[in-house]
Amino acid sequence: MKKIDGKFIAFEQNKILKVKIDKLKKTHNIDLKLVVILIGDNPASKVYVKNKSIKANELGIISLVKSLDSGVTEKELLELISSYNNDESIDGILLQLPIPDHINKEKVIDKISVEKDVDGFNSKNIGLLALGRPQVIPCTPLGCLKLLQSETSLSGKNVIIIGRSNIVGRPLSFLLTNENATVTLAHSQSKNLKDLCKDKDIIIAATGIPKMITKDWVNEKSIIIDVGINQVLNKDKKKILVGDVDFSEVLPEVRAVTPVPGGVGPMTIHCLLQNTFDLALKRRKISLV
Ligand code: NDP
Repeated sequence: MKKIDGKFIAFEQNKILKVKIDKLKKTHNIDLKLVVILIGDNPASKVYVKNKSIKANELGIISLVKSLDSGVTEKELLELISSYNNDESIDGILLQLPIPDHINKEKVIDKISVEKDVDGFNSKNIGLLALGRPQVIPCTPLGCLKLLQSETSLSGKNVIIIGRSNIVGRPLSFLLTNENATVTLAHSQSKNLKDLCKDKDIIIAATGIPKMITKDWVNEKSIIIDVGINQVLNKDKKKILVGDVDFSEVLPEVRAVTPVPGGVGPMTIHCLLQNTFDLALKRRKISLV
Protein backbone atom coordinates (compact mmCIF):
# COMPACT_ATOMS: atom_id res chain seq x y z
CA MET A 1 0.00 0.00 0.00
CA LYS A 2 1.65 3.17 -1.22
CA LYS A 3 0.61 6.54 -2.58
CA ILE A 4 2.45 7.29 -5.83
CA ASP A 5 3.36 10.93 -5.34
CA GLY A 6 3.03 12.43 -8.82
CA LYS A 7 3.49 15.93 -7.46
CA PHE A 8 6.90 15.05 -6.02
CA ILE A 9 8.01 13.03 -9.06
CA ALA A 10 7.02 15.92 -11.35
CA PHE A 11 8.85 18.37 -9.07
CA GLU A 12 12.05 16.33 -9.33
CA GLN A 13 11.73 15.92 -13.13
CA ASN A 14 11.00 19.62 -13.55
CA LYS A 15 14.20 20.47 -11.65
CA ILE A 16 16.22 18.38 -14.11
CA LEU A 17 14.42 19.94 -17.07
CA LYS A 18 15.01 23.46 -15.78
CA VAL A 19 18.77 22.86 -15.67
CA LYS A 20 18.63 21.88 -19.36
CA ILE A 21 16.48 24.88 -20.29
CA ASP A 22 18.90 27.20 -18.47
CA LYS A 23 21.80 25.59 -20.30
CA LEU A 24 20.08 26.07 -23.66
CA LYS A 25 19.59 29.74 -22.86
CA LYS A 26 23.20 30.15 -21.72
CA THR A 27 24.86 28.30 -24.59
CA HIS A 28 22.55 29.27 -27.47
CA ASN A 29 20.72 32.35 -26.16
CA ILE A 30 17.36 30.74 -26.87
CA ASP A 31 14.17 31.51 -24.98
CA LEU A 32 11.76 28.63 -25.53
CA LYS A 33 8.27 29.74 -26.43
CA LEU A 34 5.00 27.83 -26.04
CA VAL A 35 1.70 29.17 -27.41
CA VAL A 36 -1.52 27.97 -25.82
CA ILE A 37 -4.74 28.63 -27.74
CA LEU A 38 -7.76 28.91 -25.47
CA ILE A 39 -11.20 29.21 -27.04
CA GLY A 40 -14.23 30.37 -25.07
CA ASP A 41 -14.60 30.58 -21.32
CA ASN A 42 -14.78 27.00 -20.06
CA PRO A 43 -13.75 27.43 -16.39
CA ALA A 44 -11.89 24.08 -16.20
CA SER A 45 -9.93 24.88 -19.38
CA LYS A 46 -8.99 28.27 -17.97
CA VAL A 47 -7.61 26.63 -14.82
CA TYR A 48 -5.65 24.03 -16.84
CA VAL A 49 -4.19 26.74 -19.10
CA LYS A 50 -3.26 28.89 -16.11
CA ASN A 51 -1.51 25.98 -14.37
CA LYS A 52 0.41 25.08 -17.53
CA SER A 53 1.51 28.70 -18.02
CA ILE A 54 2.63 29.12 -14.42
CA LYS A 55 4.77 25.99 -14.56
CA ALA A 56 6.18 26.89 -17.98
CA ASN A 57 7.23 30.31 -16.72
CA GLU A 58 8.76 28.79 -13.57
CA LEU A 59 10.95 26.60 -15.74
CA GLY A 60 11.96 29.46 -18.03
CA ILE A 61 9.66 28.69 -20.98
CA ILE A 62 7.78 31.75 -22.24
CA SER A 63 4.11 30.84 -22.32
CA LEU A 64 1.81 32.95 -24.49
CA VAL A 65 -1.91 32.39 -24.00
CA LYS A 66 -3.97 33.32 -27.05
CA SER A 67 -7.58 33.67 -25.84
CA LEU A 68 -10.19 33.55 -28.58
CA ASP A 69 -13.90 34.21 -28.48
CA SER A 70 -16.06 31.07 -28.76
CA GLY A 71 -17.42 32.47 -32.03
CA VAL A 72 -14.04 32.24 -33.78
CA THR A 73 -14.42 30.59 -37.18
CA GLU A 74 -12.58 27.48 -38.28
CA LYS A 75 -10.91 29.49 -41.04
CA GLU A 76 -9.63 32.09 -38.56
CA LEU A 77 -8.30 29.36 -36.30
CA LEU A 78 -6.57 27.55 -39.16
CA GLU A 79 -4.94 30.83 -40.24
CA LEU A 80 -3.78 31.54 -36.71
CA ILE A 81 -2.23 28.09 -36.37
CA SER A 82 -0.59 28.54 -39.75
CA SER A 83 0.99 31.80 -38.60
CA TYR A 84 2.35 30.06 -35.48
CA ASN A 85 3.67 27.19 -37.61
CA ASN A 86 5.61 29.72 -39.67
CA ASP A 87 6.90 31.73 -36.71
CA GLU A 88 10.46 30.55 -36.10
CA SER A 89 10.45 31.86 -32.52
CA ILE A 90 7.62 29.53 -31.46
CA ASP A 91 8.62 26.06 -30.27
CA GLY A 92 5.29 24.56 -29.30
CA ILE A 93 1.60 25.03 -30.11
CA LEU A 94 -1.09 23.67 -27.83
CA LEU A 95 -4.79 23.85 -28.58
CA GLN A 96 -6.66 23.55 -25.29
CA LEU A 97 -9.55 21.09 -25.63
CA PRO A 98 -12.52 21.02 -25.76
CA ILE A 99 -13.18 23.44 -28.61
CA PRO A 100 -16.61 24.61 -29.89
CA ASP A 101 -18.62 22.14 -31.98
CA HIS A 102 -18.71 24.32 -35.10
CA ILE A 103 -14.96 23.78 -35.54
CA ASN A 104 -13.67 20.52 -37.00
CA LYS A 105 -11.37 19.37 -34.20
CA GLU A 106 -9.39 16.86 -36.28
CA LYS A 107 -8.79 19.40 -39.02
CA VAL A 108 -7.37 22.05 -36.71
CA ILE A 109 -5.29 19.58 -34.69
CA ASP A 110 -3.81 18.27 -37.94
CA LYS A 111 -3.00 21.85 -38.95
CA ILE A 112 -0.51 22.08 -36.07
CA SER A 113 2.92 21.35 -37.49
CA VAL A 114 4.23 17.95 -36.35
CA GLU A 115 7.42 19.80 -35.36
CA LYS A 116 5.48 21.95 -32.85
CA ASP A 117 2.78 19.49 -31.80
CA VAL A 118 3.61 19.44 -28.08
CA ASP A 119 0.42 17.55 -27.23
CA GLY A 120 1.24 14.83 -29.76
CA PHE A 121 -2.39 14.72 -31.02
CA ASN A 122 -1.67 15.36 -34.70
CA SER A 123 -2.80 12.21 -36.56
CA LYS A 124 0.72 11.72 -37.95
CA ASN A 125 2.18 11.68 -34.45
CA ILE A 126 -0.56 9.34 -33.17
CA GLY A 127 -0.01 7.10 -36.19
CA LEU A 128 3.73 6.94 -35.56
CA LEU A 129 3.09 6.06 -31.92
CA ALA A 130 0.70 3.29 -33.00
CA LEU A 131 3.37 1.94 -35.35
CA GLY A 132 5.93 1.87 -32.55
CA ARG A 133 7.96 4.75 -34.01
CA PRO A 134 6.93 7.62 -31.72
CA GLN A 135 8.11 11.17 -32.35
CA VAL A 136 5.97 13.02 -29.80
CA ILE A 137 4.09 11.15 -27.09
CA PRO A 138 0.85 12.73 -25.77
CA CYS A 139 1.43 14.28 -22.36
CA THR A 140 -1.05 12.42 -20.13
CA PRO A 141 -0.13 8.95 -21.48
CA LEU A 142 3.56 9.82 -21.13
CA GLY A 143 2.95 11.03 -17.58
CA CYS A 144 1.21 7.73 -16.77
CA LEU A 145 4.13 5.77 -18.20
CA LYS A 146 6.65 7.71 -16.11
CA LEU A 147 4.60 7.16 -12.95
CA LEU A 148 4.41 3.43 -13.69
CA GLN A 149 8.13 3.26 -14.40
CA SER A 150 8.78 4.80 -10.97
CA GLU A 151 7.16 1.65 -9.51
CA THR A 152 7.76 -1.27 -11.84
CA SER A 153 8.97 -2.52 -15.20
CA LEU A 154 6.26 -2.79 -17.84
CA SER A 155 7.50 -5.77 -19.83
CA GLY A 156 5.06 -8.69 -19.60
CA LYS A 157 2.68 -6.91 -17.22
CA ASN A 158 -1.06 -7.36 -17.65
CA VAL A 159 -2.62 -3.93 -17.92
CA ILE A 160 -6.18 -2.73 -18.27
CA ILE A 161 -6.93 0.81 -19.40
CA ILE A 162 -10.53 1.89 -18.87
CA GLY A 163 -11.38 4.64 -21.35
CA ARG A 164 -10.43 4.80 -25.03
CA SER A 165 -10.40 8.52 -25.76
CA ASN A 166 -7.98 9.84 -28.36
CA ILE A 167 -6.17 11.93 -25.76
CA VAL A 168 -5.72 9.35 -22.99
CA GLY A 169 -6.71 5.69 -23.31
CA ARG A 170 -6.05 5.01 -26.97
CA PRO A 171 -2.53 6.53 -27.20
CA LEU A 172 -1.71 5.02 -23.79
CA SER A 173 -2.61 1.56 -25.13
CA PHE A 174 -0.10 2.04 -27.96
CA LEU A 175 2.54 3.38 -25.60
CA LEU A 176 2.27 0.51 -23.11
CA THR A 177 2.14 -2.05 -25.92
CA ASN A 178 5.40 -0.55 -27.19
CA GLU A 179 6.76 -1.13 -23.67
CA ASN A 180 5.88 -4.85 -24.03
CA ALA A 181 2.91 -4.79 -21.66
CA THR A 182 -0.16 -6.90 -22.51
CA VAL A 183 -2.89 -4.32 -22.80
CA THR A 184 -6.68 -4.57 -22.51
CA LEU A 185 -8.40 -1.38 -23.67
CA ALA A 186 -11.85 -1.19 -22.09
CA HIS A 187 -14.71 1.27 -22.63
CA SER A 188 -18.37 1.86 -21.93
CA GLN A 189 -19.46 -1.22 -23.88
CA SER A 190 -17.02 -3.59 -22.16
CA LYS A 191 -18.67 -6.44 -20.28
CA ASN A 192 -17.74 -7.66 -16.79
CA LEU A 193 -15.33 -4.78 -16.24
CA LYS A 194 -14.82 -5.47 -12.56
CA ASP A 195 -13.83 -9.08 -13.32
CA LEU A 196 -11.49 -7.89 -16.09
CA CYS A 197 -9.73 -5.60 -13.60
CA LYS A 198 -9.52 -7.98 -10.66
CA ASP A 199 -6.48 -10.01 -11.80
CA LYS A 200 -4.52 -7.24 -13.56
CA ASP A 201 -1.06 -6.05 -12.51
CA ILE A 202 -1.92 -2.50 -13.53
CA ILE A 203 -5.26 -0.69 -13.75
CA ILE A 204 -5.49 2.72 -15.41
CA ALA A 205 -8.78 4.55 -14.97
CA ALA A 206 -9.66 7.29 -17.45
CA THR A 207 -13.45 7.45 -17.65
CA GLY A 208 -14.47 10.64 -15.85
CA ILE A 209 -16.75 8.68 -13.51
CA PRO A 210 -16.09 9.70 -9.89
CA LYS A 211 -14.85 6.88 -7.62
CA MET A 212 -15.87 4.17 -10.10
CA ILE A 213 -13.06 1.82 -9.02
CA THR A 214 -13.62 0.46 -5.54
CA LYS A 215 -11.77 -2.11 -3.44
CA ASP A 216 -13.55 -5.08 -4.99
CA TRP A 217 -12.01 -4.26 -8.42
CA VAL A 218 -8.38 -4.63 -7.29
CA ASN A 219 -5.91 -7.12 -5.82
CA GLU A 220 -3.03 -6.69 -3.38
CA LYS A 221 -0.45 -6.57 -6.18
CA SER A 222 -2.26 -4.03 -8.38
CA ILE A 223 -0.75 -0.70 -9.27
CA ILE A 224 -3.47 1.84 -9.99
CA ILE A 225 -3.12 5.00 -12.06
CA ASP A 226 -6.05 7.36 -11.72
CA VAL A 227 -6.30 9.79 -14.63
CA GLY A 228 -9.79 11.07 -13.78
CA ILE A 229 -10.35 14.62 -12.60
CA ASN A 230 -13.92 15.04 -11.42
CA GLN A 231 -15.46 17.91 -9.52
CA VAL A 232 -17.97 16.78 -6.89
CA LEU A 233 -19.55 18.26 -3.76
CA ASN A 234 -18.32 16.99 -0.40
CA LYS A 235 -20.40 16.52 2.75
CA ASP A 236 -20.21 20.26 3.43
CA LYS A 237 -21.38 21.02 -0.12
CA LYS A 238 -17.92 22.31 -1.05
CA LYS A 239 -16.53 21.59 -4.52
CA ILE A 240 -13.64 19.12 -4.40
CA LEU A 241 -11.71 17.12 -6.99
CA VAL A 242 -11.81 13.33 -6.96
CA GLY A 243 -10.55 10.74 -9.39
CA ASP A 244 -12.14 7.72 -11.03
CA VAL A 245 -10.79 5.63 -8.12
CA ASP A 246 -12.05 5.64 -4.56
CA PHE A 247 -8.57 6.46 -3.29
CA SER A 248 -9.02 6.05 0.46
CA GLU A 249 -10.90 2.77 0.06
CA VAL A 250 -8.46 1.32 -2.50
CA LEU A 251 -5.16 2.48 -0.94
CA PRO A 252 -4.95 -0.20 1.81
CA GLU A 253 -5.86 -2.97 -0.66
CA VAL A 254 -3.25 -2.45 -3.42
CA ARG A 255 0.49 -2.19 -3.99
CA ALA A 256 0.32 1.46 -5.09
CA VAL A 257 -2.15 4.07 -6.31
CA THR A 258 -1.99 7.68 -7.51
CA PRO A 259 -4.00 10.34 -5.67
CA VAL A 260 -6.22 13.02 -7.24
CA PRO A 261 -5.13 15.76 -7.14
CA GLY A 262 -1.37 15.26 -7.00
CA GLY A 263 -0.98 12.21 -9.25
CA VAL A 264 -1.23 12.26 -13.03
CA GLY A 265 -2.04 16.00 -13.32
CA PRO A 266 1.42 17.37 -12.40
CA MET A 267 3.09 14.73 -14.60
CA THR A 268 0.94 15.78 -17.56
CA ILE A 269 2.23 19.33 -17.21
CA HIS A 270 5.81 18.13 -16.80
CA CYS A 271 5.53 16.08 -20.00
CA LEU A 272 4.11 19.06 -21.89
CA LEU A 273 7.16 21.11 -20.96
CA GLN A 274 9.52 18.22 -21.68
CA ASN A 275 7.90 17.80 -25.12
CA THR A 276 8.30 21.54 -25.75
CA PHE A 277 11.99 21.32 -24.91
CA ASP A 278 12.60 18.13 -26.94
CA LEU A 279 10.78 19.47 -30.02
CA ALA A 280 12.67 22.76 -29.82
CA LEU A 281 16.04 21.00 -29.83
CA LYS A 282 14.98 18.80 -32.72
CA ARG A 283 13.55 21.61 -34.87
CA ARG A 284 16.49 23.89 -34.13
CA LYS A 285 18.95 21.00 -34.72
CA ILE A 286 20.68 21.51 -31.38
CA SER A 287 22.18 18.77 -29.23
CA LEU A 288 22.99 19.69 -25.65
CA VAL A 289 25.84 17.65 -24.21
P1 NDP B 1 -13.70 11.02 -22.55
O1 NDP B 1 -15.06 11.38 -22.06
O2 NDP B 1 -13.24 11.50 -23.86
O3 NDP B 1 -13.59 9.42 -22.57
C1 NDP B 1 -14.08 8.65 -21.53
C2 NDP B 1 -13.86 7.21 -21.83
O4 NDP B 1 -14.36 6.45 -20.75
C3 NDP B 1 -14.57 6.72 -23.11
O5 NDP B 1 -13.74 5.85 -23.83
C4 NDP B 1 -15.78 5.97 -22.55
O6 NDP B 1 -16.18 4.87 -23.36
C5 NDP B 1 -15.23 5.45 -21.24
N1 NDP B 1 -16.31 5.21 -20.29
C6 NDP B 1 -17.30 6.04 -19.94
N2 NDP B 1 -18.12 5.43 -19.05
C7 NDP B 1 -17.62 4.19 -18.85
C8 NDP B 1 -18.01 3.09 -18.05
N3 NDP B 1 -19.11 3.13 -17.27
N4 NDP B 1 -17.27 1.97 -18.09
C9 NDP B 1 -16.18 1.91 -18.86
N5 NDP B 1 -15.74 2.92 -19.64
C10 NDP B 1 -16.47 4.05 -19.63
O7 NDP B 1 -12.72 11.43 -21.38
P2 NDP B 1 -11.13 11.80 -21.39
O8 NDP B 1 -10.35 10.64 -21.86
O9 NDP B 1 -10.94 13.09 -22.03
O10 NDP B 1 -10.92 12.00 -19.83
C11 NDP B 1 -11.15 10.98 -18.89
C12 NDP B 1 -10.91 11.53 -17.50
O11 NDP B 1 -9.56 11.91 -17.39
C13 NDP B 1 -11.73 12.79 -17.17
O12 NDP B 1 -12.04 12.77 -15.79
C14 NDP B 1 -10.74 13.91 -17.45
O13 NDP B 1 -11.02 15.07 -16.71
C15 NDP B 1 -9.46 13.28 -17.02
N6 NDP B 1 -8.25 13.82 -17.66
C16 NDP B 1 -7.20 14.06 -16.86
C17 NDP B 1 -6.02 14.52 -17.37
C18 NDP B 1 -4.87 14.73 -16.45
O14 NDP B 1 -3.92 15.40 -16.81
N7 NDP B 1 -4.89 14.15 -15.25
C19 NDP B 1 -5.86 14.80 -18.80
C20 NDP B 1 -7.01 14.43 -19.60
C21 NDP B 1 -8.17 13.96 -19.03
P3 NDP B 1 -16.75 5.04 -24.87
O15 NDP B 1 -15.54 5.28 -25.72
O16 NDP B 1 -17.40 3.74 -25.14
O17 NDP B 1 -17.68 6.20 -24.83
